[in-house]
Parts: sequence; structure tokens; C-alpha cells
Amino acid sequence: AKEQGGNSSHFFNSELQKIAKEGVLLEQALHLALARNEFALHYQPIVDTETGQLVGAEALLRWHSEQFGFVPPDRFIPIAEHSGLIHELGHWVIEEVCHQLNRWGESFTGSIAVNLSAHQLQYAGLAEQLMSVLNKHRIPVERISLEITETAMIQDANSAVSVVTDLKEAGFMLSIDDFGTGYSSLSYLTRFQLDKLKVDRCFVQKMTEQPQERLVTKAIVQLAKSLGMQIVAEGVETLEQKSALEALECDYLQGYLISKPLPANEFELFAKNLTRA
Ligand code: C2E
Ligand code: CA
Ligand code: CA
Ligand code: CA
Repeated sequence: AKEQGGNSSHFFNSELQKIAKEGVLLEQALHLALARNEFALHYQPIVDTETGQLVGAEALLRWHSEQFGFVPPDRFIPIAEHSGLIHELGHWVIEEVCHQLNRWGESFTGSIAVNLSAHQLQYAGLAEQLMSVLNKHRIPVERISLEITETAMIQDANSAVSVVTDLKEAGFMLSIDDFGTGYSSLSYLTRFQLDKLKVDRCFVQKMTEQPQERLVTKAIVQLAKSLGMQIVAEGVETLEQKSALEALECDYLQGYLISKPLPANEFELFAKNLTRA
């Protein structure tokens, strides 16, 4: 038969089938995960470059599946988007963040950055949904910032523009995430009035390795600053990167050099120590 003899297309198809099947199984597990309480949020500190003070944190989803063990967000977020589960999951994230801010109380008074997926930006009721969660927990809108990727803004740009406009009007701080890694179009910087730009880890990494790359990062930072945006550098791992970012006058730093993403209780200790320091 055709399939005989180590045919490479047969190999390829069976590999694809395997991947597809794993996707289906993950999707099934993902549907049960919310009810089973398998999600958690970790919080990665964001500090002021000049003072080293803790100003906020980014909330990052963690999934410990009973069946699959730890599954990284880069793996399950696309499945959640594809299956529509992202809306429920996104709702869980904002609920959990608000709840956690109240649990922390006075031990953390900064803001939390929440990631929004492309699909969430297509949902016309998003701003209203988020505000109703904030109101329920009596969390002021200043305590939440929302991270949006360029790619998310380009998908069905018209509806994204109107959702982003609603979010701005509701008072959310908005950040452009992973800047420079997607289908960059500089026009998106002016089209949406965004408050912060997050310089992607790949730029932070490259800028200390190649002098040319430092110029690219410098140009991005200057452009964003001239548009009145604040700059957050992501994925800062070394002191060398930190000083290079200081030289560019990046406003905020985030990365393993400062801290890994932490479970809520460890983040609280981190916050207390930094405040006393
Ligand atoms: P992201 O928004 O770009 O988040 C930053 C990622 O970089 C996180 O990966 C973080 O753990 C990692 N990171 C932080 N500092 C360093 C560093 O110094 N070095 C290195 N190598 N990595 C660092 P993580 O937690 O695996 O999340 C991956 C992506 O999954 C996120 O990328 C975001 O796009 C998505 N994601 C995570 N949580 C959520 C969520 O609640 N909702 C949505 N829609 N997406 C989420
Ligand atoms: Ca992010
Ligand atoms: Ca990012
Ligand atoms: Ca990323």
C-alpha cells in the first residue's frame, strides 16, 4: 500500500495527528480545569528603575492539570482562545486579581497588570464586564492595567478599536505588550492612546549583545516617550541589561533579575520586604 516504506508524508501526517489529538485532549481537560480549580495566578514584580521601588506586578496564569501536570500558558492560551474558553478564563482572572488585591489589603497598594487575549478584544461587552467585577470587589480602576499585544489590535482592527476606546473611557491604564515582535505597524502607537509600552524580552536580550540592536531599542524607547508613553522593560535578567536600560531611561523593570513570577503569598512577602528596605 501507499503508506509503506517509511514514507515521509505518512510520518508527517501521523505526527500531525498526534499533535492534533493532544490538542483535543488538552482542550477537554481545559474545559474541566475551571470547575476543578486547577488555575492559579502568579505575580511578577515590576519596579521603578530609578528608585527600585515596587510599583506593581503582572498577573500570569498557571495551570496544574491533574492529567497533564504543569502546562505552560503559551501552550494552553491558544487552545482556550480557539475553543472560546478564553472568555470564561479571562473572567476568572480578573475576579481572582480583584479578590487577591482585597486579601493583600495594605501590604500591597500598587497596580496589577492583566493580560488580554485577541479574542477578548473582540468582545464588545468587555469594558462593562471588567468594570462590573471591579465594582463588585470595590477595586478602583487605577489599580488595574491591561496588557494588549499588537497582534490582538490588528485582528479585526475596527472592533478592537472600539473595545480599546471603551476600556480607556472606563479609566483603565493600557499597555502595549511584546512590542516589536508581531506585525509591527507604528501607526498602532498613535491610533490607540496607550499609556505604556512593554519592550519585549528579545530586545532586552539583544541590546547588550550587539551594538546595532541597542540603537533599535533606543529608537523604540524614544518614539514611545515622545508619544507620552511610559516604558516597561521585560525579561531583564542581568545587571548589564539593567544598566543599559537605565541609560535609555526606561521607567520600569520586570524580569528574573528582580524576581520570578511568585505565588500570591510569596509576592506579599516580597512587597513587605521591599517597602521596609
Ligand atoms: P507575556 O505577557 O509576554 O508574559 C511575560 C512572560 O515572560 C511570562 O511567561 C514570564 O514568566 C516570562 N518572564 C518574565 N521575566 C522573564 C525573564 O527574566 N526571563 C525569561 N526568560 N522569561 C521571563 P509565562 O508566564 O510563561 O507566560 C507566557 C505568555 O502567556 C504571556 O506572555 C502571555 O502572553 C500569556 N499569558 C499568561 N497569563 C495570561 C493571562 O492571564 N491571560 C492571557 N490572555 N494570556 C496570558
Ligand atoms: Ca504581558
Ligand atoms: Ca510581554
Ligand atoms: Ca510574550
